Amino acid sequence: MIPLSVPHIFDSEKNYVQDCLETGWVSSAGKYVDAFEESIRSFTGIEHSCAVMNGTSGLHLALTALGITHNDCVLTNNLTFVATLNSISYTGAEPILVDVKPDTWQIDLELLENWLKINTIKYKDKTVLIDSKKVIKAIVPVYVMGNAYDVFGLQRIAKEYNLKIIEDSTEALGTKINSTHAGNFGDIGVFSFNGNKIITTGGGGMIVSKNKSLISTIRHLSTTAKTDPLNYFHDEIGYNYRLVNVLAAIGLGQMENIQAILNKKQMIFKNYKENLSPLHINFQATDKNVDWNHWMVSIKTKESEKLREYLDKKDIQTRPFWTPMNELPMFKDLTYISLNNVSKELFNSCTSIPCSFDLTSEEQWIIIESINTFFNDVIK
Ligand SMILES: *Cc1c(COP(=O)(O)O)cnc(C)c1O
Repeated sequence: MIPLSVPHIFDSEKNYVQDCLETGWVSSAGKYVDAFEESIRSFTGIEHSCAVMNGTSGLHLALTALGITHNDCVLTNNLTFVATLNSISYTGAEPILVDVKPDTWQIDLELLENWLKINTIKYKDKTVLIDSKKVIKAIVPVYVMGNAYDVFGLQRIAKEYNLKIIEDSTEALGTKINSTHAGNFGDIGVFSFNGNKIITTGGGGMIVSKNKSLISTIRHLSTTAKTDPLNYFHDEIGYNYRLVNVLAAIGLGQMENIQAILNKKQMIFKNYKENLSPLHINFQATDKNVDWNHWMVSIKTKESEKLREYLDKKDIQTRPFWTPMNELPMFKDLTYISLNNVSKELFNSCTSIPCSFDLTSEEQWIIIESINTFFNDVIK
């Protein structure tokens, strides 16, 4: 089986983990957590960072630190991985779902702005829903597939409607807009180092912000809100969300190799784009000022499901797009801002194909030929 997307472990990770094991520094204290946080800061140019146990807990803490709580509303993508919605739900806030654009597959800001104009009023400096009287406090835009949404358009809307921005940049490590790194465009950004992300720590996450005091609040909350370690004094309900040293050691090793990973991802995408028939296949579009990390290759076709069955028989692993959030039982009653339900159309027509760092050019040729054969011979 050619896998969809699996991690590659380099030598540095092995050496750093060995160091943790030999010195006994395997848990929540140790130099690798600091070094890993620093490596993300210097790579992204975002001044402050706090490592956490995964992207989901990172989003949860980011929302909590910004004061999002019961009775608030938070705007987010209808087409995303469920963790985005889960993290909003943990705070007690109500997500409002926004459809995506058919070309870039990113949050549709024109649609959102028109909806805000009609459905909200300004009261003091708050954006209040006319129907429910609830306050919309924040937006969590997602970098879908690591590609970018219109960050400047969103900043403008957020300013006008007084919304906090938490960038779900979990898929976007390495992505830049006008040479500025993803995660930089809101109040807080969150990266994930889950097994299938651009780099991995097995499981892990990083919260980043230009705002020093937000990150110190987040660090405090992530370590049981302890103010006096000796007397076990905690000044609020905290969490145990921090990343352990042994996993940060893996992260530091991965970061030393991130340029090689990004180069390979870009090459894989380019090969697919040049060799898959444009008659049958569309790729995710990229805005002009975006330099994206090519984290995942997903192709849009009319025969998505049949293609997946065919490739499965050829021992090539694929995945459909995420089921849109408004179709999941726990989120089906949420407000969904949409005209044409683009989320559903993308769900029905997109298939992710293998794009691991270790994918060989022979394997990629097998995949390309299989897909072209499927369209030229099989379904004819
Ligand atoms: C991976 C991912 C997350 C969550 O990250 P974990 O580290 O798996 O908790 C959140 N949002 C999106 C869009 C993701 O792809």
